[in-house]
Amino acid sequence: MSLTLAIVGRPNVGKSTLFNRLVGKRLALVDDQPGVTRDLREGEARLGDLRFTVIDTAGLEDATDDSLEGRMRRLTERAVDMADVCLFMIDARVGLTPTDEMFAEILRKRSKHVILAANKAEGSAADAGVLEAYNLGLGEPVRLSGEHGEGMTDLYAHLMPLADAAAEKAIEEAPVTDIELDEDGEAVTPLITDAKPLQVAVVGRPNAGKSTLINKIVGEDRLLTGPEAGITRDAISLRIDWADPEGESTPMRIFDTAGMRKKAKVQEKLEKLSVSDGLRAVKFAEVVVVLLDAAIPFEQQDLRIADLAEREGRAVVVAINKWDIEEDKQEKLRDLKESFERLLPQLRGAPLVTVSAKTGRGLERLRAAILRAHDIWNRRVPTAALNRWLIAMLEQHPPPAPQGRRIKLRYMTQAKTRPPGFVVMCSHPDKMPESYNRYLVNGLRESFDMPGTPIRLTLRGQG
Ligand code: GDP
Ligand code: GDP
Repeated sequence: MSLTLAIVGRPNVGKSTLFNRLVGKRLALVDDQPGVTRDLREGEARLGDLRFTVIDTAGLEDATDDSLEGRMRRLTERAVDMADVCLFMIDARVGLTPTDEMFAEILRKRSKHVILAANKAEGSAADAGVLEAYNLGLGEPVRLSGEHGEGMTDLYAHLMPLADAAAEKAIEEAPVTDIELDEDGEAVTPLITDAKPLQVAVVGRPNAGKSTLINKIVGEDRLLTGPEAGITRDAISLRIDWADPEGESTPMRIFDTAGMRKKAKVQEKLEKLSVSDGLRAVKFAEVVVVLLDAAIPFEQQDLRIADLAEREGRAVVVAINKWDIEEDKQEKLRDLKESFERLLPQLRGAPLVTVSAKTGRGLERLRAAILRAHDIWNRRVPTAALNRWLIAMLEQHPPPAPQGRRIKLRYMTQAKTRPPGFVVMCSHPDKMPESYNRYLVNGLRESFDMPGTPIRLTLRGQG
């Protein structure tokens, strides 16, 4: 039994758009029995290596009579009952409406599991709507843009454990003869994990050593021999357990952006391919390892991808490869650090690790850096501590007073993690100079030990 997801929400929030993205052309013909699923579309969805059934409750656009609400309610209830999990979608550009509240009520009563999604969340016009979504009491909203394909990693992260649980349940319930056993008598179960693998993308220019690095980590030549189908058609992902020297292992999913390139025949296309492929991998990753060639570090293309990873809100680790060739390692390292600070100030404090993909040197430090970056990226600072900190920061360096009226910062809270995002309530947020924002962000980094991770700080006016 695979997982069934129902997309529910009022008309026009973007349900069909997301449905189409997940299903592509794999639309199943639904049973046309009157009153059963006539208004519901069903399809076989794919998100990375996840396969699940998705039900779309759209199809009410032409219902103009006053029974719309009643029909919507019945349709939604039916979908909810058919599904293991509901994706409840609101339009973040519009914000919450009374109809949204009605849906929330249905879901709270009926659904086994709800993922709240704030859709149309591309760009900052949606920020306020995303925050409002917290008021539904359905947990942290996933920022989505069905139309632009943003937020798919977060959606994947929510669905992954549920899909695993569904698969595990299916195995428990299956007749014994249906279960394939290996020679030790253990059930052969693809994709069953008790922890969600940490998603890592290795990006960098052609020849930086991405394939060599991943092969070294994996310990065999799996990239060329048996990759899993990737999260997109083009990026290839591998499930690995990367163990430390004590044997403590961390499940990871590594996105390879080189596998694709290897297949490309036409030389001129190489550069272009690896860039767009890298971009896609960044979107699906939690931690992005930017792999540089020590001989030609921080080229334009490297800077672009590192900047993109930061803007996408990913945790970044910079790895300098081919360190085995370097002669004066001390001096080189000094140069690299200097270039890093100058060329990528937005990644201040991100780890810089030297490795040799060829010999395997430095891989343990790389692994530790990835885990730490991921940990920081997930960090949550308690509200009380934040506000104590804010008072101290304000005392140390009061905010400016444009036209003699001091901007008042009243309180703050951490609205999200992955990456950490904070909201400060204040008067005249539009008058706040960028330098004060930077003062606060840098302060957060230092006081709460969050080097290197992108930190989002939003100022909100009251009323
Ligand atoms: P449904 O009635 O909930 O199924 O909504 P649709 O999928 O038909 O979308 C309604 C409208 O919102 C359409 O004009 C879409 O193009 C638009 N839309 C859907 N997703 C997004 C999005 O992520 N961003 C923006 N800006 N518009 C979207
Ligand atoms: P990709 O295009 O980023 O996947 O790069 P490859 O993994 O194909 O490596 C490009 C070239 O660099 C190959 O000839 C590798 O043998 C070489 N290479 C990769 N890593 C190292 C390293 O750590 N040290 C040295 N000396 N050569 C390396």
